[in-house]
Amino acid sequence: MSNSSATGWPAISVADAQARLTAAGSPFETVLRPVRGQLLKTWAKGPQTMRDVLARVREHGEKTFIVLEDERVSYGDFHKAVSRMAAAFVAMGIEPGDRVAVTMRNLPEWPVTVCAAIAIGAIATPLNAWWSREELVYGLKDSGAKVAIFDPERLARVAEDLAGLPALKHILVARGEGAAPLEAQIGPVTDWAALPDADLPSIGAPGAAMGPDSAATLFYTSGTTGRPKGAVGSHRAFTSNILTQQFVAARAFLRRGEIMPARPANAPQRATLMAVPLFHVTGFSAILTPLMFNGDKLVLMRRFDAGQALALIERERISTAGGVPTIAWQLVDHPDREKYDLSSLERVAYGGAPCPPELSRRVREVWPHAAPSAGWGMTETCAVFANNTAEDYLAKPDSCGPPTPLGEWKVMRPDGTEAATGEVGELWVRGCTVAIGYWNNPQATEETFGGGWLRTGDLARLDDDGFAYIVDRAKDMLIRGGENIYCIEVENLLAEHPAVDEAALIGLPHRTLGEEPGAVVRLREEGTADEAELRAFVAARLAGFKVPVRVFFAAEALPRNANGKLIKAELRERFAQPEPA
Ligand code: ADP
Repeated sequence: MSNSSATGWPAISVADAQARLTAAGSPFETVLRPVRGQLLKTWAKGPQTMRDVLARVREHGEKTFIVLEDERVSYGDFHKAVSRMAAAFVAMGIEPGDRVAVTMRNLPEWPVTVCAAIAIGAIATPLNAWWSREELVYGLKDSGAKVAIFDPERLARVAEDLAGLPALKHILVARGEGAAPLEAQIGPVTDWAALPDADLPSIGAPGAAMGPDSAATLFYTSGTTGRPKGAVGSHRAFTSNILTQQFVAARAFLRRGEIMPARPANAPQRATLMAVPLFHVTGFSAILTPLMFNGDKLVLMRRFDAGQALALIERERISTAGGVPTIAWQLVDHPDREKYDLSSLERVAYGGAPCPPELSRRVREVWPHAAPSAGWGMTETCAVFANNTAEDYLAKPDSCGPPTPLGEWKVMRPDGTEAATGEVGELWVRGCTVAIGYWNNPQATEETFGGGWLRTGDLARLDDDGFAYIVDRAKDMLIRGGENIYCIEVENLLAEHPAVDEAALIGLPHRTLGEEPGAVVRLREEGTADEAELRAFVAARLAGFKVPVRVFFAAEALPRNANGKLIKAELRERFAQPEPA
């Protein structure tokens, strides 16, 4: 910080920087527009629907868009593939508002399918590729998807169940050599490679069928009842991230008293290492959407490995890496880090989970040329709602920053009054990028989004500059790496085991993953089950990341408060010992 203060940072307050950047005539001008019955700030200019994004994508022509191992896909070829997929959806009878489920690992076919579905006015419904068979079937059924696109691994996982989904009319498989034997079980499966060619100059349904505030995406997040809930996002929600990302960079310049320089036309192509899944809002809205609009390169990995990631940063001249704090930790901590030329890194950006202040310092120390950046958001905010970067982040390394110009927030006391500056309470947020509501779940929608504010379930305080500090969670949830685990889902499942009387899930601290799930279980008097059996019981039904890494057995009843709620703090104190250094 000493350097920055020597140059007079900050030159201008955050509020003034924001006011200047969003004034009339600026590229980041904001205007109030009616959005779902409220007047909310929106970007005055810039892309507003998937159709606008795809028009720009087409202009990037021969530039490389996606790299996966030895495969390279140009923007032009990507546009053709989206066009072919969109034509195929229309031929299948997919209409605006229909759900298109996409269930695969990070393959180039993922953005093709998702962009095509959204462009024709359908609702793209990405399902978590780590989900178990039961979880995937739940997602397909709950969304009522009319078409589902799988990779072969995911298709095999649910093959026996597809016939039992009456809404599902079409099944497609990408890279499905060897899927033919499954047809006996499932019925006809369309092979992605066999789709007829189409090369539409412009893709998308114009007009009434698809406006900025119509539904575009359905991303599942777990819920307090234990069953995943789908948050419906609009076109505006994901397209707004394009200007938001540029705004955050411009704000950092202005705080230094500088105007953000335009990027020279002959500057090397920027590249992002995609180490997080595409199927969460971070991957799709915060990373993929701005990247493809800007014509940058997306480098995918089959599975994340920090050593391979370092080699890729060198080979592909990666400018942005990160995603979630876990990934950033593994990169800065890697013993081989110094063997690679990582000088191309400009930004190490992460969010979606608590970001330890030490991480910002480590990133700065290891890569002085790369700006660390932390964001806060949730599935229900359709990605980045707040962002802290550059000098601001180094000055306040435990904050996730101020909200972007499109968002407002406040901290609320349990009695429904607004907390004072500095006082901890629940963070409530509002803005045009907040999800429309939960799919098919008016009760949960009212509880979480009712009254025009989204109750985040995060406990936070705000400072005098409007920066937020997330201090805890009111919702009973753990985040392992970047994956959320709603405790009640695992607790309910453990309680179904015949030997289990009561179960509680607690977070066990982990330096790079943040936390891992541990279970505290009390067995029935006559019950017998050991740790391995209970772990296997969960593993057979839920995604691997939700399986407790340890099971502790309690001899007496688990501690509960007067309302019968588990007192997790007490359990954590007894069982969740900090990791030895
Ligand atoms: P995402 O896909 O962005 O991770 P989720 O809905 O899965 O969205 O998780 C959102 C939750 O993650 C937030 O409500 C909060 O508890 C946590 N979270 C996100 N960003 C941060 C952050 N910067 N600091 C602390 N917690 C965070």
